[in-house]
Amino acid sequence: MLGAIEAGGTKFVCAVGDESGQIIEQIKIPTTVPEETMAKVIRFFKQYDLEAIGIGSFGPIDVNLESSTYGSITSTPKIAWRDFPFVQTIKDAFSVPIGFNTDVNAAALGEVTHGAAKGLDSCLYITVGTGIGAGAIVQGQLLQGLSHPEMGHIIVRRHPHDQYEGKCPYHHDCLEGLAAGPAIEERWGEKGFNLKGRDEVWDMVGYYIAQALMQYILILSPKKIILGGGVMNQKQVFPCIYKHLKQLLNGYVSLPELSDYIVSPGLGERAGIIGSLLLGHQALQQK
Ligand code: ADP
Ligand code: ZN
Repeated sequence: MLGAIEAGGTKFVCAVGDESGQIIEQIKIPTTVPEETMAKVIRFFKQYDLEAIGIGSFGPIDVNLESSTYGSITSTPKIAWRDFPFVQTIKDAFSVPIGFNTDVNAAALGEVTHGAAKGLDSCLYITVGTGIGAGAIVQGQLLQGLSHPEMGHIIVRRHPHDQYEGKCPYHHDCLEGLAAGPAIEERWGEKGFNLKGRDEVWDMVGYYIAQALMQYILILSPKKIILGGGVMNQKQVFPCIYKHLKQLLNGYVSLPELSDYIVSPGLGERAGIIGSLLLGHQALQQK
């Protein structure tokens, strides 16, 4: 049996299951401070006899195996979690192999193994929620360099009617600063799910996401693009993205039909937790 943690800024999802994606038991724990949250995580997993644990975490995180701070959360705005030694804390409680990667890399792994990109050796998983992040599978492997990619913080061209200054604490008007859930709410003065009928809101979100997808397509040439996260529950954003992306690419690269190419997660909300089970499975195999 495998354990999995999908560690988010508002909640932790913990599950036990197997690499087929079957989840036997699952709980949600609020993200407060590490001592409190981790005590509950450990108590949950102590009920089971686990072979390995996979962690898909909010970031940025240190995924460099050579680093002295491997397995930690690094420069998060969540002060209590800054420099938190995530892998070490789990290792101290369970002496099993531990897989550790970003939440979006976990989701990409889940989707390429069991979801919308099943059977492919390449995909991109993007979340548009409290933040924007993406994970990529390239030639069958999670893309990693010095560290994990941070594709949510790219620079985009401003919408001509957008006066909003942007919400990213590091870059103000990067993609995340202009198009994540909190930016939408602050710009329009309403919760995202109350803005459903406001076409200009979603056209602007589509305008920004299409630019990001153009860059990702030109650089990575993914075989499938999967868009998850709370904001993407507004399904009317998809046609806005297709429209803007078509205009931007202007026929330069040939792509599949956009409604088949840029899709919602095949695993729905479970992409991240199933991917985390798979990170655990990978760690077990690499032991
Ligand atoms: P997180 O990113 O924290 O894991 P979510 O992916 O649910 O969680 O993203 C939360 C953000 O998405 C919030 O800013 C919220 O306002 C926005 N959001 C959630 N659901 C919807 C919805 N149905 N329509 C528009 N925005 C939404
Ligand atoms: Zn940024």
